[in-house]
Amino acid sequence: MKMSQCLIVFFIVFSGFSYAETESRQQNAHQHGKAELAIAISKEDVIIELHSPAHNILGFEHQPKTEKQQQLLANAITRLKTTDNILIIPKSAQCKLKSVEVESPFSHKNDEIHHHEEEAHEEAHSEFEVIYQYQCGDNKHLTNVNLKPLFENFPGFEQLDVQWLSNNKQSAKTLSINNSHIDF
Ligand SMILES: [Zn+2]
Repeated sequence: MKMSQCLIVFFIVFSGFSYAETESRQQNAHQHGKAELAIAISKEDVIIELHSPAHNILGFEHQPKTEKQQQLLANAITRLKTTDNILIIPKSAQCKLKSVEVESPFSHKNDEIHHHEEEAHEEAHSEFEVIYQYQCGDNKHLTNVNLKPLFENFPGFEQLDVQWLSNNKQSAKTLSINNSHIDF
């Protein structure tokens, strides 16, 4: 029940820019170096969703063709699943990671992507979607989050547009490696 409420909140946060624009973003070129993050906090539940061009994470956006590229993809998925590589949450908030979902555009052979690639090499774009779900023991201490590890571990990220909803307060900030801190 609590998690489902959180999910509802989360969709409200996202409806402004993410889901509504997913379609058009896939058709129009996204911008490499930029990505979006949404954070929803509802009592002890925290959901964090990252949408990023595959280019930021892998340096390419086509199906891995060589062994090296396949290795890069596998490594990237592993690193995305390790939250220490992505963000810092105050320890005193006692947040435990409940699940991570990494949706890679290349996890299964997609006919449409394939088709795209053959027809329009340059136009083909692809994106990752990563969802982190936490449960926090002391949300009074959940006052901030820092995304510096993401910028440090994935140098392809230059700008991160973050929207969050915490205690019914909605706000937004654009982050970079030197400005990677959010206060809720
Ligand atoms: Zn792209």
